[in-house]
Amino acid sequence: MGKPADTPMMVQYHEIKSQYPDAFVFYRLGDFYELFEEDAIQGAKLLELTLTARNKNSENPVPMAGIPHHAAKNYIDILVDQGHKVAIVEQMEDPAVAHGMVKRDVVQLITPGTKMIDGVGSDKQNNYLAAVLPGDGTWVLAYIDLSTGELKATTMYRFSDVMDELSSLEVKEVVLRKNDEQTTRQGLATQLGERGLVISTQTITGENATVSFLTQPLIKSDEVAATSMLLNYIFDTQRRNLDHIVPAVSYERLTYLKFNQDTRTNLDLIENTRTKKRAGSLLGLIDETHTAMGGRLLKQWVLKPLRDQHDIESRLDLVQAFQDDFFTRGALQDHLKSVYDLERLSARAAMGTMNAREIVQLKRSLLTIPGIKAVLSDTTSILNVTGNKLDDMVDLASLIEEAVVDDPPISVREGDIINDGFDEKIDNYRRVLHDNQQWLAQLEADERAATGIHSLKVGYNKNFGYFIEVTKANIVKLEANRYERLQTLTNAERFVTPELKEHERLIIEAQAKRTQREYELFVTVRERVKANISRVQKLAQQIAHLDVLAALSDVADNRRFIRPIFTDHNSIMIKQGRHPVVESLLSVGEFVANDVLLDETTNMQLITGPNMAGKSTYMRELALIVILAQMGSFVPAEYAELPIFDQIFTRIGANDDMAMGQSTFMVEMAEANHALQEATAHSLVLFDELGRGTATYDGMALAQAIIEFLDAHIHAKTLFSTHYHELTVLADQHASIENVHVGAVEDDTGHLHFLHQIQKGPADKSYGIHVAALAGLPDELITNATKILTALENKETVITTQNQPADTMQPERSGLSEQVALFNVDVADKETQIILGALDDFDILKMTPVDAMNALNALKQLRK
Ligand code: ATP
Repeated sequence: MGKPADTPMMVQYHEIKSQYPDAFVFYRLGDFYELFEEDAIQGAKLLELTLTARNKNSENPVPMAGIPHHAAKNYIDILVDQGHKVAIVEQMEDPAVAHGMVKRDVVQLITPGTKMIDGVGSDKQNNYLAAVLPGDGTWVLAYIDLSTGELKATTMYRFSDVMDELSSLEVKEVVLRKNDEQTTRQGLATQLGERGLVISTQTITGENATVSFLTQPLIKSDEVAATSMLLNYIFDTQRRNLDHIVPAVSYERLTYLKFNQDTRTNLDLIENTRTKKRAGSLLGLIDETHTAMGGRLLKQWVLKPLRDQHDIESRLDLVQAFQDDFFTRGALQDHLKSVYDLERLSARAAMGTMNAREIVQLKRSLLTIPGIKAVLSDTTSILNVTGNKLDDMVDLASLIEEAVVDDPPISVREGDIINDGFDEKIDNYRRVLHDNQQWLAQLEADERAATGIHSLKVGYNKNFGYFIEVTKANIVKLEANRYERLQTLTNAERFVTPELKEHERLIIEAQAKRTQREYELFVTVRERVKANISRVQKLAQQIAHLDVLAALSDVADNRRFIRPIFTDHNSIMIKQGRHPVVESLLSVGEFVANDVLLDETTNMQLITGPNMAGKSTYMRELALIVILAQMGSFVPAEYAELPIFDQIFTRIGANDDMAMGQSTFMVEMAEANHALQEATAHSLVLFDELGRGTATYDGMALAQAIIEFLDAHIHAKTLFSTHYHELTVLADQHASIENVHVGAVEDDTGHLHFLHQIQKGPADKSYGIHVAALAGLPDELITNATKILTALENKETVITTQNQPADTMQPERSGLSEQVALFNVDVADKETQIILGALDDFDILKMTPVDAMNALNALKQLRK
């Protein structure tokens, strides 16, 4: 509410601002958007604007900062990309005719989740906005990409799954039911906010026809409620036509191979964890798509591999078909290069923002379809069937072809859009314009002849219109009273004549009518596109599928991938498997392929071997092969027979969540716990050096207990790499555990060579010092470490180092001798324990030298 001293304008501003307290209000004032008060202070900082004040000299000047309206988009992008919201307030009536205060209202709220990606270039990213609604013991998630119209909903039973899905979808903004954000299950908003998500709220309002239509395919009432809430938020904030939104699809997370954010990161699925770039990730490696839609779909496939064998095989059949028919694939991909982003073009058509260039992009895309159909129908494989299903939309393509010129301007209001011969009226206006242009040319010739002034010219100026220009020196030659002076320049004068004025009127009139008519016809064509949006969207999906399948086939060819085979047995047989990303970073032939063999009775491999030998690579390689196989891709191996997995769990230490305030070891245990709670006999578990985040004993004890728990209760296929060589004895005690190690050899000079070869049995030693030497640690330090190691191996407990006199050293309690003792069952050296116990009881500070002598003597007696 406005303060008493507020001007009517500030009253209006406050009224609007009170409805959008969490948004920057861009208040339209003439050619500017103005920010006021706190928005102005913050906005000036974030956008580097000059902070001024309204009523500077008054008692309470109002802070103010302005943005020219034509440059607003850049400023809005900066704010929204930083996670802010922007409410655009426009004048709702013409200030010239308005009585009193010009009416203003919010025309759009731009937020991180509703920001439309502009243009329809080759953007392979989705921009999802989600709604989360707590149900009865469930959580419902609905999400939409406004730039493509995709709308989905799912029901989950755990909040951690919701968080996981949000992060997998890279959601930036979440809509919550008003009041839920504070009251529901301990501050829903706080938890989401901690993850950097922008929170918006929405009251669940009554259904309207559009919302009912879009939620109709949903069966679960909670999913309908969440999706309606999301749609209502969008309609309330966007306030424009959004006919491209596709009716909602409900999905079950159970139908997909499940893995969490840590696994996505550990495996570098979408981006390289270190560089945060696509290059160096699985997606970066296999993305050979040619369209933006294909790029987006491929990413979805990588993040959601399937579990239904039939669905997987259908994809593999098509990859295979492209594989078998190199020429069809090549010809298809040539056509795909000319297909624009049909999904985003549909969105722009729906919103009425599609310009003529984009309509031409749509036409060019549609014109490729007959070619694509022809290419596919030429084959005898299943590609033929796929080709037949494509709708080439000849009707729409020919309409655009006939109506719109090939290279129109961006502006749709200035004409030059509609083809000659398409519309009689436009042709007439163009004829009038043409005739008048000729008349002007003739006028120049006639005037030159009549006046004898060769330099006389007829020209046009935006402000003054058509004129006859004569240099000052020649003015005397003009017939008096025939010319009316229009404008004086330094060296010339400009004139008009009544005839020239009349022709100018005709030209202006024809031009105005022509541009108006062109605009109207363009809008008609755009409306036809809009009426066909669902066809375009369906085609977009079909093209995306073809693009992805052909791309996967390219990858299979270029990178020597083979078709995986799925087995009902719980066994893995991979011959000569490779880690595709690591392989791509090495020179040809440098990557050492490895078999992964876990038969039905073997559930776990304990992997030992030196650091840097390739243990993690081997483990990640298996997970990547599983993901590739279940997303419908060929895999990097010579032979691959796999069961269908339900989930993948990874504990690989690289990215501990220090930012979230958790210690490395805590994260390690939380992740291990997650796997132990969730994994089933159909899961794949990768544990890389579990237990190393704490003291040797604790770590080793936990590692052993975890291995035994997995073995006794879960039976998941597990790769467990470890530096605790002592654990390798477990393979003798448990039939389902086997030892493998990564081979390395030491040459005559003591240098270590990694073979990167997985071999049966445990590693002979850990080679940590060799790796440290390879890493370039000082020779002196390496020699010292070797000495300490020898001492430890000789079961000494006090080690003399070269830098430290022996008497300042503390007894080493975690030497190898004790580690060995832990696993040698024969732990009890009772004598030692008694002596150690007695030592603990000595209170040295209170002992006299004689007491000490006596005590020592007593201990000696014990030894006897
Ligand atoms: P650490 O125990 O220190 O984590 P690690 O045994 O897990 O080491 P990796 O990280 O898997 O070792 O591999 C180290 C490097 O060795 C890789 O970055 C890669 O360059 C190379 N490498 C791994 N496996 C292979 C292989 N099969 N063929 C060729 N080079 C490999």
